[in-house]
Amino acid sequence: MNQTSAQNQSVASPIGLNPGPFINPFLLRALPFTGVVEEADCIRIPGLVLTSGTPLRIGERVRVWASQFSIELEYMADIEERQQARQWVADEMKRLEESRIARALDARRVASEQFYARQPVPFKFSIEVKERLSGLSASSNGDGFSRSTVYHIFTQQAVTIGRISRKEHDFLCSPAVANSAANWSGSLGNDNHRENTGFVRIPTCKRCLQLLQQLSKTTKAASYPL
Ligand SMILES: [Zn+2]
Repeated sequence: MNQTSAQNQSVASPIGLNPGPFINPFLLRALPFTGVVEEADCIRIPGLVLTSGTPLRIGERVRVWASQFSIELEYMADIEERQQARQWVADEMKRLEESRIARALDARRVASEQFYARQPVPFKFSIEVKERLSGLSASSNGDGFSRSTVYHIFTQQAVTIGRISRKEHDFLCSPAVANSAANWSGSLGNDNHRENTGFVRIPTCKRCLQLLQQLSKTTKAASYPL
């Protein structure tokens, strides 16, 4: 289906059929009925005749059903066209959503590249959270972490900044043990926040950022490759 026919949803409306002076209870049991038009002025459902004031197109497949106030007929071609139009709209929505996600991901990748270009990390590190699982609370990001999750720089080697020193596998802002940060899932240090996106998250912890800045002033070492 092309775009024009999908957007133009003016598919013919159903045709009302006349079931006669009273509605035969057998008719309601026989509906919905799918068949082929054999005569222009009526539809025959086994044992019953439904007349049509509107000439019907002989040879076409139709569906007959009972609506709230009348018996209606629609050409299968029209039903299928409407279904295709709906499917087209659904596909288009999906495509737009996918490209929105892709664009958002691109923006995050660029932001990450710019951040680490401006603020290199001169030691081996990963980005981690101090685990505070949010489960399925309202502020959940859907990945078990709260939307307000703070991302920290996690040392993958011992670091000394002036009088501050961190062992391997410490949060830059505060030693993990001293802070009694939980490590329930055992994921710390596994660099899980690289996600599947191929880029490294930007740290958001103010103290980590402060120390990182301090460190880059005192260290001439090259940035550790991401
Ligand atoms: Zn931190």
